[in-house]
Amino acid sequence: MNAQATPSDTLDVQRVRADFPLLARTVHGKPLVYFDNANTSQKPRQVIEAVDRHYREHNANVSRAVHLLGEEATAAYEGARDALARFIHAPSRNELVLTSGTTQSANLVAYSFALPRLKPGDAILTTTMEHHANIVPWQIVAARAGATVKAAPITESGELIVEKFVELLTPEVKLACVGHVSNVLGTVNPVRELAKECRRRGIPLFVDGSQAVPHRPVDVQALGCDFYALTGHKMLAPTGTGALWARKEHLDAMPPFFGGGEMIREVKFSGTSFAEPPHRFEAGTPNIAGFAGVSAAIDYYEALGFDAVRAHERALLDHATARLREIPGLRIFGEAKEKEPVISFLVEGAQATDLATLLDIEGVAVRSGHHCAHPLMQFYGVAATLRASLAFYNTHEEVDAFVAALLKARALLR
Ligand code: PLP
Repeated sequence: MNAQATPSDTLDVQRVRADFPLLARTVHGKPLVYFDNANTSQKPRQVIEAVDRHYREHNANVSRAVHLLGEEATAAYEGARDALARFIHAPSRNELVLTSGTTQSANLVAYSFALPRLKPGDAILTTTMEHHANIVPWQIVAARAGATVKAAPITESGELIVEKFVELLTPEVKLACVGHVSNVLGTVNPVRELAKECRRRGIPLFVDGSQAVPHRPVDVQALGCDFYALTGHKMLAPTGTGALWARKEHLDAMPPFFGGGEMIREVKFSGTSFAEPPHRFEAGTPNIAGFAGVSAAIDYYEALGFDAVRAHERALLDHATARLREIPGLRIFGEAKEKEPVISFLVEGAQATDLATLLDIEGVAVRSGHHCAHPLMQFYGVAATLRASLAFYNTHEEVDAFVAALLKARALLR
């Protein structure tokens, strides 16, 4: 893929695949079928080369040096802030805090925004389908403040019951939290509608965008939320990169969470004053090379265009869903009307882990387990599911190979 290419609504999948070196490898002597993209995506050579180039040509620390390398490293790091602001349509680059991922972004909001506002008897609202990163940080700070965490219910088909979510937005709720897209069910939540309801009641809304940004264009201003967290490694970028977008008025009011270098204005033993946001929240040396990769990942998405990505992923999801539905005894978890290409399922009479192990022998990488969503597993009354999560570089042939491997594995377990 040429980064200068004009986006179109069709995807040349073979050309795209040629950009992802890892997709060409074999696993246990079989061609790799990588369907664990919701866990982490593979990386195109453009991202790998950006990281490599950083260490070969520009490596230095950010902001602490006046020498040329320091300026180049700072430009790479700050360039990622610009790219991320563009990618999610943030009104200002200064509203983007660069983090190590969604987990850090959520914890920053929990400790720096929620905790100082919580009183005994208050609550944080989340939903039954969330990843632990959108539950546990809220529980930790709620427990410290004598507050509670409530969860809005979902339907059997894996959709948020919006009326219940709205009913639960009672005056003691000081923060509402929702995933834009579920990592287990693929469900796309109606963030714009939820944000409107939250705003009407003066309740800030935190959105976990980890599973949305790899698949759909995001405009935080159109969504109308207060916070939007994302993680780089699920959207082609290196691990240990991510961001938190927050409205300026929130960032201005938030005390620092981590203390150290880079986040201060002046340090005295009589008292320290802090830098303005976003630097106030970026203590210590960041993952500079990783953020050089973030810019390259965003360039890659922009060159492809989300129209093409979405059209291909939609076709893949439809094909995979139809093929899996042909298998007797296979149950799909998550059949929302609006879904991203994630399919969780179980096969009657077979353990998820056994199937995943046998699939691996056939070269097919899927995830089995609770997917960091214990409450969702409890809702469905299961300990684990298998999850096939697709990306734009996957093919219909890979879906067929996965289904063939699944049928073979099931036969072995009978
Ligand atoms: N939220 C969702 C929906 C996720 O799928 C994940 C990762 O699996 C996370 C949060 C946590 O992301 P990270 O581990 O990159 O911080």
